[in-house]
Amino acid sequence: FLPDGTNGGSGGGLLGRLGANTVVLATMRAVALLGKQFVLAESIEAATAEASAQRRTQPNVRFSFDMLGEGARTQADADAYFESYKNAIICIALKSMNTVTKGQNVDKNDVHVPPDAAGDGISIKLSALHPRYEWSQRDRVMAELVPRVWELCELAAKARMNLTIDAEEVDRLELSLDVLDALCSKVAASHPQWRGLGLAMQAYQTRAMDLIAHVASIARKHGVGLMCRLVKGAYWDAEIKRAQVEGLPHYPVFTHKHHTDISYLACTHMLLAANDVIYPQFATHNASTIAAIAQLAHAKGLQPGAHYELQRLHGMGTGVYREVLRDPRVSCRIYAPVGSHRDLLAYLVRRLLENGANASFVHQLADESVGVDTLLLSPLRMESASSFALPRDLFGASRVNSAGLDFAVAEMRAPLSEALTTLAIAKVPRVADFDVKSLLGRGIHSLVSYQKWSEMPVSQRAEVLRKAADALETAMPEFCALLIVEAFKTPGDAVAEVREAVDFLRYYAAESERIMQPIALPGPTGEANTLRLKPRGVWVCISPWNFPLAIFMGQVAAGLATGNGVVAKPAEQTPAVAQAAVELLHKAGVPRDALKLVCGPGETVGAALVGMAGVAGVVFTGSTGVAKIINRALAAKDGPIVPLIAETGGINAMIVDSSALPEQVVDAAVQSAFKSAGQRCSALRVLCVHEAVADRVIDMLKGAAAELRVGQTSHWSTDVGALIDAEAFEGVSGYVKGLTDKVFTANRSLVTESIEGVAIHSVANIQAPVITEISHLRDLSREIFGPVLHIVRWRDGEGDAQVMGGGLDGLAQAINTQGYGLTLGIHTRIDSRATRFAEQVHVGNVYINRNMIGAVVGVQPFGGEALSGTGPKAGGPHYLLRFCGEQTLTINTTAAGGNVQLLAG
Ligand code: FAD
Repeated sequence: FLPDGTNGGSGGGLLGRLGANTVVLATMRAVALLGKQFVLAESIEAATAEASAQRRTQPNVRFSFDMLGEGARTQADADAYFESYKNAIICIALKSMNTVTKGQNVDKNDVHVPPDAAGDGISIKLSALHPRYEWSQRDRVMAELVPRVWELCELAAKARMNLTIDAEEVDRLELSLDVLDALCSKVAASHPQWRGLGLAMQAYQTRAMDLIAHVASIARKHGVGLMCRLVKGAYWDAEIKRAQVEGLPHYPVFTHKHHTDISYLACTHMLLAANDVIYPQFATHNASTIAAIAQLAHAKGLQPGAHYELQRLHGMGTGVYREVLRDPRVSCRIYAPVGSHRDLLAYLVRRLLENGANASFVHQLADESVGVDTLLLSPLRMESASSFALPRDLFGASRVNSAGLDFAVAEMRAPLSEALTTLAIAKVPRVADFDVKSLLGRGIHSLVSYQKWSEMPVSQRAEVLRKAADALETAMPEFCALLIVEAFKTPGDAVAEVREAVDFLRYYAAESERIMQPIALPGPTGEANTLRLKPRGVWVCISPWNFPLAIFMGQVAAGLATGNGVVAKPAEQTPAVAQAAVELLHKAGVPRDALKLVCGPGETVGAALVGMAGVAGVVFTGSTGVAKIINRALAAKDGPIVPLIAETGGINAMIVDSSALPEQVVDAAVQSAFKSAGQRCSALRVLCVHEAVADRVIDMLKGAAAELRVGQTSHWSTDVGALIDAEAFEGVSGYVKGLTDKVFTANRSLVTESIEGVAIHSVANIQAPVITEISHLRDLSREIFGPVLHIVRWRDGEGDAQVMGGGLDGLAQAINTQGYGLTLGIHTRIDSRATRFAEQVHVGNVYINRNMIGAVVGVQPFGGEALSGTGPKAGGPHYLLRFCGEQTLTINTTAAGGNVQLLAG
């Protein structure tokens, strides 16, 4: 950590007392010790030697070696992991042979020794073998990953060795089953005698039993035998978070620990019953679970070793298994990670979480205050409700969370495919030129009359907005289709946008009810003082094309919730989305005369609306330049000073120090810079990487960008769609052509096909992601609204032509000098550094150790300062206040005579 500013020795705390070098050395030693606890060896050669040594004292243990590393971001990563798996299989096979042949010379290609279950084996992660092991890239996975895994399987089959595919995140499950199916068919054709192929299955998944039935049916279909490992599951917290973030209807995993335990037992029962095609491998450290497995098997007349095996992780469950292995019939396979400390982190975090969790068996076993009765409590009891709120109820009583769609599930994809096939985009009338002139001569009240709407009790208005939110949620597929075709959104981005619009409606409904209650103020006796908010009048809402539904709906809903009338002017490029949104609001109960849609170009129609007499306020999202034009136009008007809420762009930076995790940085940077083809005002424009890690991060970033698919957004596999129109394309591609130095263009295959049955839409105006290096932040002086990522290398001390100097303070100063202040990303493993930097920089939204896009209504209120906007933040608790006027009401309660209140006291 030392190169970028943690040079210790001074200051308080441990660093101050011991000095940085001592602390760093001690930390490295601690990491090495932790690594030793959970990792068998650094190389496969050392690992197999260690395995042999352990077998000398404990003959009935076997090993499944796991080459550390997962989640390849680039093809180069995937190639390296493939080579290490291949080398490991050959090494394990040779070792087994050597054990048998006592060192005779052997042909590496003709390795063939112990029967499948008796010897050591290997565990592999499919996410390590392909940079896009995702459901949306199924065609690539089947065409590119399956042959690679098959190569490994063939080696394992020849060596009669167990090869198990690890279980990873739930959204990869169906894909892993497709891969398994393809592999089984190859096994049947080429190595029908091999029964060593296997899959890990997670009992914490609510569909675990269906999964086992499905895997057994695959095995029976192909007439092959499998070795299946039953685990409880290691990604529990991540699954809960994903379900909440994506607003899924339910959790894909159980939420009570003992429900997972029950599921494990039910799955055990099923696996033992499927012993015609499955050799079960029960992986657990829980003594209670092990005892139940033994009993269940015994009741079926099945023997340990012959009919099933037990498994544990290296470094865990040692004490429990010391006892279990006293029975010489029992065999235990140890899952043994192999690799260097650099690749340890993801694995180590999962193990530490597991060991640290209160509900975990190993944790409770180590806790002397937990008695045997508690430790071995039967899980056989049911809870009727989830142990915490479902994603829909995340915000408690205040509002319902918007519902998302999980496209990894085929049933959730189907309605969108159907909506795309039937979509007809309505022609939206525009205001003609001569009408623009007539607009100028009129007052805004000639377009909108909001009297009735504003007199409605706030709770009734809120109900109308909630009804609209529900209707929008129901019409999610149709709105997504519209966004895909009119605004070139990818399906995932379209869902996120509809959800944001739904959230705006519900949030502002709730907020209006909160803030529009009269507040009683203290004062002298005999007088009642209250403060209340009132609508200001008619607002002009001007929204952009990049979020044609969410920003449009957010502005309009804010105006309406507070009782104002609204004239909404959407971007010229996306009028159909706006029209559909307005129709939906009218149907939900917003009076037609309180909300009017006016379409046309900004320079004419937008300008005319802003210039009309009687406008109570303008809310605008778009470029800084246009915001300034509107501001000047308003200032030039006669009459009252008109408030303007402007949300504009930014030159958003992400700061990466040398302690940051490169994989995390690359994931965050790729999403932030290239999602929505970089057409978000929050998008990452300049990545500032400490020089010590820059080469590694930049290489990985280029590799990950090269894996993105550009093209037609009405296809599931597309990551980067078209720019909004030819003018935008010319601007961005013209800028890219002007770049001369260190430019990388990620030109992967162009997706030209559509979702099946859907007419092909345009693939014009596609700009592939571009990465380019600049030497200083000041070299980027304007926002490039497209998929172009700039990189700056930085260091402490003096800079040079290649590297920006001045350290973190210099970066903060440079960001502030640019004058924008919208979003900022920080990646570091040093908490104090992140918070200090966030304090130094004048930006609206700061994201630490994650991507910097996708602000959620009411969770990350969105909006910047300085050149990036006026505030208040959209989707935040202060937004609606700007739409209101304030009135105090003072009533002399003694006017009729005496002061009853005082006398009563
Ligand atoms: P227990 O303490 O009895 O169970 C802990 C488990 O319960 C947690 O891991 C979690 O899954 C679950 N849990 C915790 N809290 C809750 C809650 N509130 N509600 C519901 N469930 C909860 N995991 C994988 O995901 N993929 C693999 O490929 C994989 N391979 C493995 C291989 C081996 C040989 C072993 C031993 C484990 C493997 N694991 C794998 C890890 C495994 O999933 C478990 O995390 C670990 O074994 C702990 O389970 P346990 O039975 O030993 O302990």
